[in-house]
Amino acid sequence: MRLVLLGAPGSGKGTQANYLVRDLAIPHISTGDILREAAKHGTPLGRQAKGYMEQGALVPDGLMLDLVRERLAQPDAARGFLLDGFPRTVAQADGLDRILGEAGARLDRVVSLDVPAAELVRRLTARWSCPQCGAIYNLISQPPRLAGSCDACNAALEQRRDDRRETVENRLKVYADQTAPLIEYYRGRGLLLTADGGQAPETVYGSFKGRLKA
Ligand code: AMP
Repeated sequence: MRLVLLGAPGSGKGTQANYLVRDLAIPHISTGDILREAAKHGTPLGRQAKGYMEQGALVPDGLMLDLVRERLAQPDAARGFLLDGFPRTVAQADGLDRILGEAGARLDRVVSLDVPAAELVRRLTARWSCPQCGAIYNLISQPPRLAGSCDACNAALEQRRDDRRETVENRLKVYADQTAPLIEYYRGRGLLLTADGGQAPETVYGSFKGRLKA
């Protein structure tokens, strides 16, 4: 199955993606993760993307389309995939269609997670992670046992640079301006499935998983 997961930053895409890839045995392709990894290793892509990411701005479409084209050409994506964080603009959605069309494929479904803006800000500014092992904590729903340090390796927890309040507000604005139009774009093509993302993660998943194949 070829899926896109749409949702504002903080809407729980990562968690829902984990459930989906577990049940559907497809690769989870998160463009944010790919870019963060590239930035960490200082690759040419990472160096180009870093400044945009730190401001919560979008990396240019051309760069993103090259990245996704290359990733989807890998053998593990031949029978399906879950795209998380891509597409984020109508130009990216059109580009995705072209990439899939060249391979004689098309999208099966787009799942959109709906969460009120105030809840998104609350969730995003509560997210902290371990720079050493990558564990993610949430000060509201999943705090570390000892404040400020990782349960697994004791390293001091850090807030992702783009999870700071000013950046969070910018990321949400960028989402509303550039990505939210994709909801209507995919609804118009009969691909959209919406879920109320304001509930507990298992509840959210239960609310749409049975409708994926319909
Ligand atoms: P995410 O983890 O998906 O919230 O992505 C983190 C950051 O990576 C975003 O704020 C953007 O700067 C960049 N990014 C990730 N995916 C895309 C995309 N599809 N288009 C443009 N920028 C992206």
